[in-house]
Amino acid sequence: MFKKIIKPFQDVLLERKLCVGCTGDLNNCKKLGNLSERRMLVQCKCRRRYVFDKEMNKYQRATFSEEQQVLKQIAKDRE
Ligand SMILES: [Zn+2]
Repeated sequence: MFKKIIKPFQDVLLERKLCVGCTGDLNNCKKLGNLSERRMLVQCKCRRRYVFDKEMNKYQRATFSEEQQVLKQIAKDRE
């Protein structure tokens, strides 16, 4: 018998700080910018984006608005 899967596989990967797409180590991600003092947007080598919470010490998938916030900031800095 198989063990019952309690947590979605993606959550397990994120808890282990691994990308849900390529299972790469998220600690090696490129840092894109800060969303706030404790939250940072990072991008995996497979181009998936995550938010790292420094206080909780964990990764989450970035929402569309979180991505836009940082990408706009980057575009502004380049002007
Ligand atoms: Zn990846």
